[in-house]
Amino acid sequence: MANTRTPLIAGNWKMNLSLAEATALASAVKDAAAKYTDRDVLLYPTFLQLTRVAEIVKGSRVLLGAQNCSAEKEGAFTGEIAAAQIKDAGAGYILIGHSERRHILKESDAFLKTKIDRVLDEGLMAMLCVGETLDERESGRAETVVLNQLNAALSHLTKDAWKHIAIAYEPVWAIGTGKNATPEDAQAMHAAIRKRIALLNADAAPTTRILYGGSVKPDNVAALMAKEDIDGALVGGASLKAESFSELIKLAK
Ligand code: PEP
Repeated sequence: MANTRTPLIAGNWKMNLSLAEATALASAVKDAAAKYTDRDVLLYPTFLQLTRVAEIVKGSRVLLGAQNCSAEKEGAFTGEIAAAQIKDAGAGYILIGHSERRHILKESDAFLKTKIDRVLDEGLMAMLCVGETLDERESGRAETVVLNQLNAALSHLTKDAWKHIAIAYEPVWAIGTGKNATPEDAQAMHAAIRKRIALLNADAAPTTRILYGGSVKPDNVAALMAKEDIDGALVGGASLKAESFSELIKLAK
């Protein structure tokens, strides 16, 4: 049976782009997204660019997200940004547990679980990133690692909370390296993730979007998204240029 999940193509701008560049790129993405009503487009600019990008995409099909949030609600946490402030800026999504935060900034599973709760407290969508390192894949532990990450962050959720969850499977060895998982390997992991979601909440399994991330480009996106359980892409490098991201939007069906 064909699934009813709307494809989602998301651009993670990381710590890139000036305000002028972000403004121009957001306008170009808005124009590209306007051509397709059967897929969703989501942008993750830096915090400083959120309000500007929110103004640009207002009233369009383009969704807006933040790349991270504090694990705390509010208060004396210098340099942090609260989920409520992100909501206030006009964003609907927050990316949680990107591999750069897990591995470079050493964010633990327990810490990420708290962040998920902060996102859900505000009624926003949390996109949880999971993924194994090269060493974990080569030693046959990829699925265990990924499912443990999923369980640690999400197994406590109520049934209703699952409506606010999306997953991004991003093998760490594929991020920014030019090496993507084969569509078959990615599909196998997505199917394992969906099976685990079914154990946690049977109703959420057919509806939760699971995106693939890791060196997605216009020349590999169609083969990845042709797979049954791959519902979209989380894109880093190729989301930074209007031409390549517009091409990805066009091909993401
Ligand atoms: C990412 O940042 O989540 C990512 C997948 O990056 P890239 O597309 O550059 O591999």
